[in-house]
Amino acid sequence: MRFLLTGGAGYIGSHTCVSLLDAGHEVVVLDNFVNSCPEAIARVEKIAGKSITLYEGDCCDAAFVSSVFDKEHIDGVVHFAGLKAVGESVRIPLNYYQNNLGATMTLCRVMAEHHVKRIVFSSSATVYGDSKEVPFNESLPMGECTNPYGWTKWMSERIMRDIAFADPEWTVVLLRYFNPVGAHESGLIGEDPSGIPNNLMPFICQTAAGVRDKLSIFGNDYPTPDGTCVRDYIHVMDLADGHVKALEYAMDHQGTEIFNLGTGEGYSVYQMVAAFERANHLTLPHVDAPRRPGDIAVSYADPAKAKAVLHWQAKRTLDDMCRDAWNWQSRNPHGYRQA
Ligand code: NAD
Ligand code: UDP
Repeated sequence: MRFLLTGGAGYIGSHTCVSLLDAGHEVVVLDNFVNSCPEAIARVEKIAGKSITLYEGDCCDAAFVSSVFDKEHIDGVVHFAGLKAVGESVRIPLNYYQNNLGATMTLCRVMAEHHVKRIVFSSSATVYGDSKEVPFNESLPMGECTNPYGWTKWMSERIMRDIAFADPEWTVVLLRYFNPVGAHESGLIGEDPSGIPNNLMPFICQTAAGVRDKLSIFGNDYPTPDGTCVRDYIHVMDLADGHVKALEYAMDHQGTEIFNLGTGEGYSVYQMVAAFERANHLTLPHVDAPRRPGDIAVSYADPAKAKAVLHWQAKRTLDDMCRDAWNWQSRNPHGYRQA
């Protein structure tokens, strides 16, 4: 099969490219490199020993997206393209709504015009809001998001469900990711945040590398066993493998399906720090700091549906996540850029 990955040069997209190529599929990537670079694709090709067709351009540009579908035979699409920085989305919400919803609507319209109606979408556990019922199960009602980024995921889900409802030829697979961390075991590809990172693991890695003096732990008075927030961290290669299963599922099903992609295990921030120190034999300077606005206390997945229907489950351990994240960081202290 030949799949189009919008945003395929990004963190999760590049790892998914590897998994798809390893599974014998062909990959076409569309990316405007607003948060990535072509070097990631070159490195994917090196890992997989196979080539990728790459189109540089904006997913909101209908003429450009249409030209890609005119040139390529595409069996299905994974739609990763989007802006993802939560704090930035609060400061410049219109950019987020315009880019993330614009990309989703443009893509779906062009796909329909080209009779390609199978899409897998990068959604997020953030659409559950601050649900009191954990683990999060796909049948829970969608919640209130705490920032514009989250609402773009919530609204994109809604838009795609409505498209599939109106036209039963569509297949929409909504993947709700929990907290992707780690990197391909080769250390050739990984997460390369531009500027100040948003997420815990890049902060941990930069602290271990000495780029930052110490890690701030945001809040130790949450109603959790050790007072710090609990999340479901998932190795990015497990997540990537989940996309292969989701695409293969989409090829012979119709309608909308939602799957959590998580491990089902929750770890606190203190536990993450301890795991990183243990896996990599180092000490991580850290300090307790005030809560970060908008954080919820506990989030972890019920991954049973993905296991039952997609025959997928996360295999890699917390030690694998910490080791592979550090392997990528220490081999590429400047990410994909040269020193
Ligand atoms: P990323 O920023 O590394 O990748 C996104 C890619 O999309 C980048 O390569 C970027 O250049 C591209 N892009 C953005 N807007 C575009 C546009 N208009 N046209 C073309 N390309 C565009 O992020 P990621 O971590 O790989 O996340 C991939 C997807 O998964 C995103 O939609 C993100 O919101 C979602 N997601 C990520 C996480 C996470 O923690 N990383 C969690 C839940 C959901
Ligand atoms: N966190 C932290 N220090 C940091 C970055 C994050 O203590 O420098 C905490 C954050 O408050 C949250 C957890 O780590 O409790 C995971 O944060 P992340 O942003 O990675 O994921 P999200 O909160 O979006 O699920």
